[in-house]
Amino acid sequence: MCPASAETAACHCRAPLGSFERFCGILIEHFAAGSLQIISSLWLALEQIRILTVSEKFGEYGNAVLKKLQLSGLRASLDNRGEKIGAKIREGRLDLVPYLAVVGAKEAENGSVALRGRKEGELGELLVPSVLAEPIFFDRITSMTQCDLCPRQCTLSEGQTGICGVRTCRDGNVSLLSYGKTTGFAVDPIEKKPLNHFYPGSKILSFGSIGCNLSCQFCQNATTAQSRDLSLLTTSATPEDIVRLATQHHCESVAFTYNEPIISKEYVLDVAAACRSAGLKTVAVSNGFISEKCRSDFFDSMDAANIDLKSFSDTFYRDYCNGEIEPVKDTLRYLARSHTWLEVTTLLIPSLNDSDVEIDALCNWFSENLGREIPLHFSAFHPAHKLLTLPSTSAPTLHRAREIALSFDLCYVYTGNIDDPAGQTTYCPQCDQPVIIRHRFTIDEYKIDEESCCKYCGQTINGRFAES
Ligand code: SF4
Repeated sequence: MCPASAETAACHCRAPLGSFERFCGILIEHFAAGSLQIISSLWLALEQIRILTVSEKFGEYGNAVLKKLQLSGLRASLDNRGEKIGAKIREGRLDLVPYLAVVGAKEAENGSVALRGRKEGELGELLVPSVLAEPIFFDRITSMTQCDLCPRQCTLSEGQTGICGVRTCRDGNVSLLSYGKTTGFAVDPIEKKPLNHFYPGSKILSFGSIGCNLSCQFCQNATTAQSRDLSLLTTSATPEDIVRLATQHHCESVAFTYNEPIISKEYVLDVAAACRSAGLKTVAVSNGFISEKCRSDFFDSMDAANIDLKSFSDTFYRDYCNGEIEPVKDTLRYLARSHTWLEVTTLLIPSLNDSDVEIDALCNWFSENLGREIPLHFSAFHPAHKLLTLPSTSAPTLHRAREIALSFDLCYVYTGNIDDPAGQTTYCPQCDQPVIIRHRFTIDEYKIDEESCCKYCGQTINGRFAES
């Protein structure tokens, strides 16, 4: 068992046969020998590596190492209790943790760990990046396959499922368990995604699956996005079925939404190709947490994307989403320069990411890196998933955030999840006249001409608008 500590990592989601795997692992542990034993003890271990701090003052460094190892797909935990290091090592051995990484003053200064293998004994001081590449971990595990779709880079053994819960290793390749299946469909106004500058007033066919490569404690779609239960995928749909459904319901576009579409890349790309051939547009509602290698492949197949920028703090991303912010910023920068239409949404959560300082920093970065003309939505949090005790975001908080963004000269700033006609209206950045007046998801007035210009002053309004 992991040591009881607030900083002890929860074990990552395992394949449904996790207990069977462990049963086999225990048998192999006792009866097998040689390299098979080493392999089994590592990949079957619920906890592959435990970081042990020499004293509590190295907790911060230990935590940084922990996050690095977890993001690399290792099932790691941290023991930062005030126990003597000898006792922690003994406990780690008793718990059958294959690798122990001791961190103290020298390691914190060098960016390293002192590594010990349960079978090999002391392995010496290793820099953290080299621990991740250490042959002990990966070279001996010849059957493992790496999923390179998102920054987690899960290393999967045959039959093992990645952290997102839908990608597994089959015959040495990564395969999508949820291909061709969905939790169901809905026809929405496109404003609900939210997209305010992409064919306003049109209808969009929305569908999603299960799983996610982040684990946000405030997930507003947790029943599917944080689930790993494949039986929730009750509807089968080929790409052609989806095109047919969208056409029948007079939708101009199809949205990959409700859970993270990146993790279903193969299915999403096939559906997107079928949509484009049929003249339908495609929209991804995504967390943007994707690897550099797969970013263009995925997003170039989309006509529009709404990316959740969950906060402007890497600590928040690590503590509340089990992720990191930099890949998301890279995705935003990529999309701002691409042909894919981009809008950005930040869910403001009381006391966690709604300070003036943080919103200020977000807007400053936004205007410098994405430009003034990309729409930014601040939307209201409602208690959900693991954050049930926080209050909903108040209207004044959303208004304040919008004011800050406008003070950075951002042209199109919206509030969402509340009744706020002014915060949901599009104003011309030149003459300040309301060019699209919305009430929630319906359009009351539309003053943009067929050339995408303001009907009052002729200023171009950034976006994709109907030509007639
Ligand atoms: S997409 Fe899933 S399996 Fe692939 S690296 Fe990310 S979390 Fe792991």
